[in-house]
Amino acid sequence: MERKTVLILGGGVGGQVAANALASRLAGRHRIVLVDKQNDFSFSPSFLWMIVGQRKIRDIQRPLAALLRKGVELVQAEILKIDPTRKVVETSTGPMSFDYLIISLGADLAPEKIPGFQEAALNLYTLEGSSRIQKSLEAFSGGKVAVLVVSSPFKCPAAPYEAAFLVQDFLKQRGKPAEVSVFTPEPFPMPTAGPKVGEALKAMLESKGIQFHPNHKVTNIEPDGNKMIFENGKSETCDLLIGVPAHQGPKAARDSGLTNEAGWIAVDRETLATKYEGIYAIGDAASVPIAGGKALPKAGVFAHSEAEVVAANIMARLEGGAPGAKFDGKGWCAIEMGGGLAAFGNGDFYGESPQMRLYPPSRTWRWGKVLFEKWWLSPAGVRRKLLRLVLNLGAKARGIPSSL
Ligand SMILES: Cc1cc2nc3c(=O)[nH]c(=O)nc-3n(C[C@H](O)[C@H](O)[C@H](O)COP(=O)(O)OP(=O)(O)OC[C@H]3O[C@@H](n4cnc5c(N)ncnc54)[C@H](O)[C@@H]3O)c2cc1C
Repeated sequence: MERKTVLILGGGVGGQVAANALASRLAGRHRIVLVDKQNDFSFSPSFLWMIVGQRKIRDIQRPLAALLRKGVELVQAEILKIDPTRKVVETSTGPMSFDYLIISLGADLAPEKIPGFQEAALNLYTLEGSSRIQKSLEAFSGGKVAVLVVSSPFKCPAAPYEAAFLVQDFLKQRGKPAEVSVFTPEPFPMPTAGPKVGEALKAMLESKGIQFHPNHKVTNIEPDGNKMIFENGKSETCDLLIGVPAHQGPKAARDSGLTNEAGWIAVDRETLATKYEGIYAIGDAASVPIAGGKALPKAGVFAHSEAEVVAANIMARLEGGAPGAKFDGKGWCAIEMGGGLAAFGNGDFYGESPQMRLYPPSRTWRWGKVLFEKWWLSPAGVRRKLLRLVLNLGAKARGIPSSL
């Protein structure tokens, strides 16, 4: 059998899942190569716990090599350009050719798009920014805290709200008088999940005394006094500004002409195939169409499932089978509420209108979130055992047999 090369661009959530799934079946028979510019993987959902001092960098970062199964070749390099017709990727360490390509380069952050953001705001979406938020909150003596969403789409639609809940709880516990507000261009929280979920989250914010300002699209920030100027003519100041910066498609894909008008890679919503034979895009980099001309929200849970689908179909093709795996648009998230509680939402985003169900906050959902973090940060060999344990425990609790 001819030895083929599956090249995976990006070793974040989608890239790791795809590489490990492929290696579990193909290692030794085909080459599985993963390229990332970073040596270490940081689990970004845990940035939220970092900002309130519940995690340190060492708790949420691992060498990428430790998270990959045997049989995955890891290359540390910057991806510069992708030539889909010649099937070659240009990298900082030279060209790499492939038979199959999985693009999982995530979203690029573009804080520079809003004048004043970089000077005034603490960036919730980077490891370094989260660490700075933690230090600033420690030193904060009280006043107005704003969580600002610059534009849509942004990854993890719940994250800014989780940040607001955690910050409010942290400052209350420390006895620091504060007024926490969220400003967003969206009409209600998590709009793709539908108005019911949005209204429920709004009510949860209000019940904690967090002010919610929808339809506030920031145009620029005056660093002197953290003055946010909005498109609707209003302006607001605050003492501490926590920001979610603008997002855009990954530079290497944009520079290669692989992106649509909005700057993301268009894919088939069931197979994640691009218009180029043997080339797939998953996770945040992809634009996955859903009803109403919208796109699937950007979240790790989707990157994870999409990676499994693409890996299954590539394996089938390499083994002469029919590539029948399909991504079903289903996803879930545990929403941190502070005070040791998390709410839980799950839903189907491929229906006529997305159906998401929100379960009330409980300690159990929060424990689930913690276990999920532990799973992600465990060595590749331990992950399967941990997953089996969690599923068995869950099945026992619900009184049903577990198949794993
Ligand atoms: C604060 C926060 C909280 C979140 N919470 C949740 C949550 O609770 N649930 C959830 O489902 N999702 C959550 N997310 C979103 C989730 O982290 C992303 O959706 C997910 O990581 C996307 O996976 P990906 O593989 O597409 O991209 P990523 O995981 O971002 O991986 C992209 C990889 O590509 C590499 N890369 C990029 N460009 C290049 C280049 N030119 N050369 C080489 N390498 C490159 C990067 O180094 C990176 O390793 C959260 C995100 C944040 C920021």
